[in-house]
Amino acid sequence: MTRLLLGDHNLSVERLRYPSRYRSAVPRDLRLCRFCRAEVEDEAHALLDCDAHARLRDLREELMQVATKLDPGLYARRAGCTSLDFLIILLRSRRALVHNVARFIYQVLNVYDGEPRFVPLVFRVP
Ligand SMILES: [Zn+2]
Repeated sequence: MTRLLLGDHNLSVERLRYPSRYRSAVPRDLRLCRFCRAEVEDEAHALLDCDAHARLRDLREELMQVATKLDPGLYARRAGCTSLDFLIILLRSRRALVHNVARFIYQVLNVYDGEPRFVPLVFRVP
């Protein structure tokens, strides 16, 4: 959870921000999700929005089942806010949910770590 809060994770929104030996920096709107390649691979997308990987959907469903059991008002708050806002709500949860959210973040980041990152060809240095 700390790595997520500090931006010290392996999601493309952070890792493609800076140039490396074999590629130039990638503009934020082109740091696309390695699974769906339709949205920016940022924290909110990876944790709450991406539907292109079955394990991500399963982990999210498991978390929401536990979360709504521990904090029944949580599901209602999800409907009226953005994914980023809801992620902040989850991170602030105090009803014994924090360790479940931390485990969820760890598991989702591991799913992303297990798949090569998508880098648009135009940014690769030959
Ligand atoms: Zn995605």
